[in-house]
Amino acid sequence: MEDAPRLSSTVSPEENGPGTCDSSWTEDGLVDAFRDLATLPVELEERRPTCLRCRRPQKVCLCPFLPPQPLEVSTCLYVVQHPAEESRVLRTVPLLAACLPPGKCNVIVGRRFSEEKHPDLAALCRDSRTLILYPGPSSQNLEELVKYQEVGAVKHNIIIIDGTWNQAKSMFLKNSLFHLPKQVQLNRTLCSQYVIRTQPSNICLSTLECAAVALSILEQNDAIQEVLLRPLRALCSFQLDHGAQVHHSKEHLLKNGMYDKPMPKNKRKIKRMEKLVTDHNICPR
Ligand SMILES: [Zn+2]
Repeated sequence: MEDAPRLSSTVSPEENGPGTCDSSWTEDGLVDAFRDLATLPVELEERRPTCLRCRRPQKVCLCPFLPPQPLEVSTCLYVVQHPAEESRVLRTVPLLAACLPPGKCNVIVGRRFSEEKHPDLAALCRDSRTLILYPGPSSQNLEELVKYQEVGAVKHNIIIIDGTWNQAKSMFLKNSLFHLPKQVQLNRTLCSQYVIRTQPSNICLSTLECAAVALSILEQNDAIQEVLLRPLRALCSFQLDHGAQVHHSKEHLLKNGMYDKPMPKNKRKIKRMEKLVTDHNICPR
């Protein structure tokens, strides 16, 4: 790729600066303007022509990595997203949605959900076919659950909470609606492999990786996972080619003996770090 298009998140402020640079601007004013630009949460090429299928700017369209036809799945995916995650992950959810038939990948943004304000979500939670992906002592291994089911016999709905570990925990504990569906967990590990940090926007794929794994288990088809992760990986390698850095999670560093910071003295912190290494149910992050 010689004339590779660049993501605005990797373009330096000078290249992306205001086109109407006024000579009366003081240097401080310019610095401030650049600082403001650097904090913009959304990529700027929003205004450029956008591909209708993958919702990416046409120059960085990821359609070649999408399946020619949407995957036939009977499962309905619901990503319940903490508002803080919206700007970080939203741009990857359309990629996932583009691999699936219309209506099979839904995003609900919020922190608190009630029966009165969210009747559709409440109905979904009461549906006996609905599962919620959240690890814990009372959650069942998803693979075990579908083991004796005929493929496609049950059209499951699966809810995935998208946020940092603490956000997801708080969302799960404080929303009684989320205690209604059967609680399941993934015992396969795949999450956190492709964590990439770009400036100024962060993209973290682990929730979407969980979604891909969960769907392939529910549909009893391992190929689904590969197909769903292809465009996400392409997005990652694109970001990497354009200056993003790989940030391994603390868990990855600890597990692989690459953690080079002094271990904390605080017992609670040590315990938490031990949990990272031993806890395989790392979805949601
Ligand atoms: Zn496209």
